[in-house]
Amino acid sequence: MSGSVRDDIVRVAHSIHDRGLTHGRTGNLAVRDGDRILVTPTGVSLGDVAADELSLLEADGTHVSGPRPTKEAFLHVAMLRERPSAHAVVHTHSVHSAALSVLEEIDPDDPLPPLTAYYGMRVGRLQLLPYAAPGDPVATAAVERAARAGHALLLRNHGPVVAGPDLDTALDALEELEHTAQLFFLTRGMRTAPLTPDQLAALRSRTDPRESTPR
Ligand SMILES: [Zn+2]
Repeated sequence: MSGSVRDDIVRVAHSIHDRGLTHGRTGNLAVRDGDRILVTPTGVSLGDVAADELSLLEADGTHVSGPRPTKEAFLHVAMLRERPSAHAVVHTHSVHSAALSVLEEIDPDDPLPPLTAYYGMRVGRLQLLPYAAPGDPVATAAVERAARAGHALLLRNHGPVVAGPDLDTALDALEELEHTAQLFFLTRGMRTAPLTPDQLAALRSRTDPRESTPR
């Protein structure tokens, strides 16, 4: 089991890097492994992550074995603690989502209009969290609070943190967020027609409740 979890993390980490969804040595992933959590290590590009070089944590974030975990492991630990149905968390510095996170005039409870059906189904509700320095665990309480309300968070001046029932579903949602943020900037200043509440409600019946949190 652990072997396939490790292989999954490596496959998705390399995919995120190869497709330019995060840059440099930014971005990190976590997946439950039994009662523990496997997370990508600190100081390593997602393009170079190896199956035998992942950090193993207790569910409370205590380091068990492997290299030192990413400084942002507490984000993953908090998300997984507050969302028992989630098994994986993906965090990147994807450029359009990060651009959205720096806008001054933005509603923290509704930072991005639902421009597409897939955004409605895979992301649903997005919450913008207040700024905290990278790796500063003071953000833990805010992440916990937001995680109880939804699986898709956007860290102010930073990037998205998205949980899912598995790694591929979490990545799908993060990519949908990134794609919709790109659409938002492409159409900025134009009149757009986001999905209506009725249209979003109709999508809800098609959505796996584990995957999304209704707006
Ligand atoms: Zn980060």
